[in-house]
Amino acid sequence: MSDCIFCRIVEGEIPSRKLFEDEDILAFHDAAPQAPVHFLVIPKKHIPNIMELGDGGAALLGRLLDTAQKLAAGQGCSEKGARFVINCKSDGGQTVDHLHVHVLGGRPLAWPPG
Ligand code: AMP
Repeated sequence: MSDCIFCRIVEGEIPSRKLFEDEDILAFHDAAPQAPVHFLVIPKKHIPNIMELGDGGAALLGRLLDTAQKLAAGQGCSEKGARFVINCKSDGGQTVDHLHVHVLGGRPLAWPPG
């Protein structure tokens, strides 16, 4: 059994509120939402963070972002927009070491982050 929580979600060992799934990608609502819309888009393959994408990474990243923007539109964010965030390692505030795109929307978000 993997000790990566997102790998365990991919494997169905931990439940999630799925928004989208295909062969390579899974999207699910964040368990601790920071906005009315807050979901995560992840590769099913375990990639620790964006700096370890490796070969084929650009295509995968493109697919993650394309999925994120389509789902954001489906969640009602077309008119006012949303924030698409990838945290990386400790300085980036990453707490789960499995690459993920956050999508936050449904309210105005402050900038810059603290
Ligand atoms: P980050 O801090 O960028 O690594 O974000 C990790 C995110 O994963 C946080 O927003 C958590 O709330 C979220 N999270 C952690 N465990 C789960 C889970 N089991 N289901 C859904 N979201 C989770």
